[in-house]
Amino acid sequence: MNNIEQSFSVRFDYTTYFTSAIFDSSNTTLDDFLKKHKTPGAAQKIMFIIDSGVLRAHPQLADQIKAYFSAFDSVKLLPEMLIIPGGESAKNDPAQFDRIIDAVNEQGIDRHSYLAAIGGGSILDLAGYAAAVAHRGIRHIRIPTTVLSQNDSGIGVKNGVNYDGKKNFLGTFMPPVAVFNDDLFLQTLDDRNWRSGISEAIKVALIRDEEFFYWIEENADALVARSIDTMNELIHRCAELHLEHIASGDPFEKGSSRPLDFGHWSAHKLEQLTSFEVLHGEAVAMGIALDVVYSSLAGRLTREKSDRIIQLLMRLGFEITHPLLQPETENSPIIAGLQEFREHLGGWLTVMLLNDIGQGEEVHELDFKLIKEAGLHLAATAKQLHQ
Ligand code: NAD
Repeated sequence: MNNIEQSFSVRFDYTTYFTSAIFDSSNTTLDDFLKKHKTPGAAQKIMFIIDSGVLRAHPQLADQIKAYFSAFDSVKLLPEMLIIPGGESAKNDPAQFDRIIDAVNEQGIDRHSYLAAIGGGSILDLAGYAAAVAHRGIRHIRIPTTVLSQNDSGIGVKNGVNYDGKKNFLGTFMPPVAVFNDDLFLQTLDDRNWRSGISEAIKVALIRDEEFFYWIEENADALVARSIDTMNELIHRCAELHLEHIASGDPFEKGSSRPLDFGHWSAHKLEQLTSFEVLHGEAVAMGIALDVVYSSLAGRLTREKSDRIIQLLMRLGFEITHPLLQPETENSPIIAGLQEFREHLGGWLTVMLLNDIGQGEEVHELDFKLIKEAGLHLAATAKQLHQ
């Protein structure tokens, strides 16, 4: 008998909307979207999953959502909303995943209905994973509420939860049906969460867009002063670069490379080793610093450019290193991060380094001696700053 060949492709389209006060009764952005995607004859429902930190900062939110859906009834709002404790703990606790799946089951949410998640990257990663696996895929709407989730995690195609202490060990590649970035949410972030997402913008600027890096330098003071207009501009450009990259490259990471994870090999491990006390974006800033200095010590990046990048991170208020990022030996715990980074993708270890600002290049091995030297260099720089 002949073998039967099978081949098809699936197209994904979704929009990242930029809006303000999404649940204000005069704002039709969400309702317009729901009307446009109505399934004829289906009784579509929408269930909201809300980050507890967001609800604390916006206590009227649940009432606003109810008022919105009584004014606009394109889909049926399920009055019970799931409130999930915000932050990384949501991705570490299997009970939170079960709560979402149970709600899908009990509330009869089908594939034409919506799971809409409002929150930081952690809640969105968890909700996106549950939405992807329940009924093999329920329509998922993301409403990111942190800088990091609006400019990176909430707009992309990945979701996931942690398992056995390993970041994103369980997850899928599943694009949302829409993303709504609402800048009103950003105003209630504490300073750490306001700052932390800026590291992802620096990351993508360093590997893809020199002009954007210089723009961030010019606007660093405004970012520190919490100018919402400047932050909106940063988020928009960063989101655009991420989305372009996803569409042009290998969206479901079938190869061995994860170029958007510049600075992340050590960052993921550092988060885990500090029991997530160091925030993702903060760890990324330190991971970027390490790989930037490494690139300079390896003769790729000039010392002047390396200093310039470290200066920018410090001006924005980031810590540039951590004792765990100064490994003594090849058995130091952070070095295990390299192996885990490779295992996550399989195949070759592939790490992005910098040849210039805006110009990354992938390599397949790192030299422990240079990692150690880079760690010591950053510790000395940080010490000078704190003296
Ligand atoms: P987070 O989701 O962990 O939230 C941080 C804190 O801010 C929480 O306490 C939360 O309750 C609170 N919060 C959220 N929005 C708020 C608001 N508007 N006002 C007041 N408090 C608010 O932080 P994050 O930086 O958004 O997300 C980090 C997560 O994103 C990590 O798990 C990381 O691995 C993941 N991530 C995923 C991707 C991806 O492609 N899926 C990419 C990058 C990062």
